[in-house]
Amino acid sequence: MNGTRALIRPEIQALEGYSSARMEAQGGDVLLNANESPWPGSGDANWNRYPDPQPRALVERLALLYGVAAERVLVTRGSDEGIDLLTRTFCAAGRGAIIENPPCFGMYRVSAAIQGCEVIQVPLAADWSLDRRGIAAAWRPGAHLVYVCSPNNPTGNATDPNTVAELAEAMAGRAVVVVDEAYQEFSAKPSCIGLVDRFDNLVVLRTLSKAYGLAGIRCGGLVARAAVIATLRRVMAPYPIPAPSVAAALDALDESRGETQRRRVAGIVASRASLAGALTQCAGVREVWALDANFVLARVDDASAWVARCADAGVLIRDVSRYPSLEDCVRITVGSPPENSRLLEVVGAPPAAAVSA
Ligand SMILES: *Cc1c(COP(=O)(O)O)cnc(C)c1O
Repeated sequence: MNGTRALIRPEIQALEGYSSARMEAQGGDVLLNANESPWPGSGDANWNRYPDPQPRALVERLALLYGVAAERVLVTRGSDEGIDLLTRTFCAAGRGAIIENPPCFGMYRVSAAIQGCEVIQVPLAADWSLDRRGIAAAWRPGAHLVYVCSPNNPTGNATDPNTVAELAEAMAGRAVVVVDEAYQEFSAKPSCIGLVDRFDNLVVLRTLSKAYGLAGIRCGGLVARAAVIATLRRVMAPYPIPAPSVAAALDALDESRGETQRRRVAGIVASRASLAGALTQCAGVREVWALDANFVLARVDDASAWVARCADAGVLIRDVSRYPSLEDCVRITVGSPPENSRLLEVVGAPPAAAVSA
């Protein structure tokens, strides 16, 4: 990964990284090397012990889930942490830059701003496809991260892996292409994870927050070549993954829950279509998009009035009209069938449409 290695900040290339007690020695039955308490602080769990920085069982479970070798998986505290780690690893403070494609997820530019980096914006084309020529033209030395949110939040459309492959090829030696697949489970289009075999400048972010119903435990998987994973680990906190989160993730990913999990995602995908159908019958709705994620996007006559009317009835939806090209758009997460019916009732869907959704 010579070309990609050169994109890592020189300070990080030279960094040795913190060596924790748990990294230096494993095994033993009298643990006097990490200044922990000998007594559990809560219940019977051995939470008095620092956790494994990368818990083996969870790394392997995520590797199986994503169909990659364990050395290509980094367990994160969610994709937000992945974005933060990538920014601090690849973007020089005060000099570096990222490229994003608005309207897109908001954390890329927040992490870049925290690092004092420029945010180069290359808007999506009118059909919400990537403007690859625009990205190549906007690239400048130091712009070491190019984000592709697929399926995209808040538009919901997915980018074809062939397009991502062409972008990764064009950016080789210039930037790492980061594909944020937070909503991949809800999409019929293929994941970009397979491309990690071909490109050492490709990173894919996955998370258990959306499809797996685990937003509260903060857990995700970052997939990249082993050399990238090893570098990110040196930047990451020494004991990043809390033991209760590991236990919850392994429980949720147990094969015994697989069928329920698949049924839930299929249910969201089915409700997405019926919710969109019902919304199109509501007064004041101009356009509805129900694409590859667990939300629908609707252009309405007055977005802030819609959001306020829903909030008055206790139903929270998101005003996304501040995003470029999304004037008067609201983003509505697909909920449970009773939740969807409640939303439709509040926005005045014809009763028959509301019931079938
Ligand atoms: C929700 C979301 C995230 C954040 O995921 P976490 O794993 O909960 O940090 C990342 N990217 C996109 C596009 C999202 O919508």
